[in-house]
Amino acid sequence: MPDAARRADELRRILHRAIHAYYVLDAPELSDAEYDHLFRELQDLEAARPDLRTPDSPTLRVGAEPAERFEKHRHLVPMLSLANAFSDDDLRSWESRNARIAPEVGAGGYTVEVKIDGAAVCLTYRDGVLARGATRGNGVVGEVVTANLRTIPDIPLRLDGTSWPALMEVRGEVYLPKAAFEALNRRRAQAGEPLYANPRNTAAGALRQLDSRLTRERGLRCFAFTVEAPGERLPFRTQRELLDGLAAWGFRVEPHRGRVTDLAGVCGAVAELEPQLDGLPFGADGVVVKVDPLALHDELGTVGDREPRWAIARKFAPEVAITKLLAIKVNVGRTGALNPYAELEPTEIGGVTVSTATLHNADLIAAKDIRVGDWVEVTRAGEVIPQVLGPVREKRPADARPFTMPERCPACGAEVERPADEVMTYCPNVSCPGRVLESIVHFASRGAMDIRGLGYERVQKLIEAGLIADVADLYDTERVNPERLQALDGFAEKSAQQLVDAIAASKKQPLSTLLFALGIRHVGEGAAELLARRFGTMDALTKASAAAIGEVRGIGPTIAEAVAAFFAEIRNRELIDRLRESGLKMSEPRRAAAHGPLEGQTFVLTGTLPTLSRTEATKQIEAAGGSVTGSVSKMTAAIVAGEEPGSKLEKAKALGIPVWDEAELLRRLKAGS
Ligand SMILES: [Zn+2]
Repeated sequence: MPDAARRADELRRILHRAIHAYYVLDAPELSDAEYDHLFRELQDLEAARPDLRTPDSPTLRVGAEPAERFEKHRHLVPMLSLANAFSDDDLRSWESRNARIAPEVGAGGYTVEVKIDGAAVCLTYRDGVLARGATRGNGVVGEVVTANLRTIPDIPLRLDGTSWPALMEVRGEVYLPKAAFEALNRRRAQAGEPLYANPRNTAAGALRQLDSRLTRERGLRCFAFTVEAPGERLPFRTQRELLDGLAAWGFRVEPHRGRVTDLAGVCGAVAELEPQLDGLPFGADGVVVKVDPLALHDELGTVGDREPRWAIARKFAPEVAITKLLAIKVNVGRTGALNPYAELEPTEIGGVTVSTATLHNADLIAAKDIRVGDWVEVTRAGEVIPQVLGPVREKRPADARPFTMPERCPACGAEVERPADEVMTYCPNVSCPGRVLESIVHFASRGAMDIRGLGYERVQKLIEAGLIADVADLYDTERVNPERLQALDGFAEKSAQQLVDAIAASKKQPLSTLLFALGIRHVGEGAAELLARRFGTMDALTKASAAAIGEVRGIGPTIAEAVAAFFAEIRNRELIDRLRESGLKMSEPRRAAAHGPLEGQTFVLTGTLPTLSRTEATKQIEAAGGSVTGSVSKMTAAIVAGEEPGSKLEKAKALGIPVWDEAELLRRLKAGS
């Protein structure tokens, strides 16, 4: 083998070991700087000699060019679904059904495994190298999403050991960790974007991204749970050996697995696992029980190639109630998004009376075929807001009516809009009374204009009293002044004056804060800051075209179009004019370089810090002379990482940039004071 090829081979082995040690074993072997050094050496080698790039190269983990469409993959053996058991009795009848086919089943022992609530995938390995990855699809044919699956660090690109068959399919469950899902929805809420319904659908959606770099940003993880290799000999005799074998080959296998000798042991293990499921960092929707000896799997076989007889999912009664769907109504959020919700005949779920539940959006209502008048299943499991799961079709009354999104906004009558690539419908009228309350509350909130003392209830009160109808009215002293406030319930002389002062103080907020506060669709704090820095004044931004806005680094076409559309609307321009006349600052100050311990250094923030908000951390860094940017480069002095960091952290590690936690940041900030 020529030198370059030998070196590339060696680098792949070292990096592969390091990734496995870091993500699967949780025991890093290489320092970040060493890893980075070797990773770049391999990247350079492959750039110079593309023929040396192999399908198991760790450099593929950073994502590939977008695909045009997905090819189909026919699974070697169908991917089965499991029958359910809801009680110990159900498990006992499962065992006696099996004993009629294979009498020794009761004595063979069972394994119990946590059932991960994600998206099943099929990983084809040829000679120990990941050759192809596919979704489950309909169980027989799935879609090829190899580039996306390569970005998941738990999925080995090359297997350890030698005992694997030359051709096999490993099945696993890809999931989005709960914390990553929550962080994702927090960011979307902040940007006024519709929230994802649950981690499972979000994971399935991320798997089917045409651009694998987007898949990678989501932070998917994977547990492997079985292997199929028709016509080949597997080196295992039992399911337990199989799970341990998968781990030895380099897969991540869910740790709460065990073997018990008989069905009584199964029931005991299930009772022990059930209360732990909610606390796991990923969604778990039951316990899978499998017959341990693999020889018995063959003997028991499947029911019509759909369900195996040798495995069953022990599910737990979810907190679900069935009640009547009285009406589907629509309310208007601050970005104008029309949110359909269900009015229900009041029912009790988990000790709480529920009379409304979210229906998410019109597409989901249609997909689940939920009709007004239906009996519906409602749950509040794990989520604060109750949601409608779906209709009970057998109980559907003859007069049940399908739902259609109104063509006019129910609050203001404006014609609604539905952007082609979105599932939400919007009211475009920024002065829509439905949007007004939510948008004023957002405008005044911390992180936005920060008008202390102006919370939800007071905004509601000011609107009801006719003092305000939009955010510009807040600054109109004819409307909002101490005398008029004192005439309202809940205001004394002092509190009225305090609110007036707080409103006046908010005029000094910079353009970036004002842009975020205005609640422009898709514009979160980060985008607002980028826009304010680039354009400097409201005037310049108002005049910019969508194309010009889209050229700002970090601003994608969706944001650019939303911003341009916002300023194209005459009512919004009038609102801005009134704010300007009231004396609001419409520009972004050039940050005078502060002197301090972080002077001249650039930082990147990622993840959720334990105590500081991102805005607060940025302020403190800037006050100490440093600056904060959105992307990691060789100029980055350090990356400050919190819980659930994004891909920036890996990039920083790859570049050998120091990683700080919040405590370290606070120490450094303090060092100079
Ligand atoms: Zn409206």
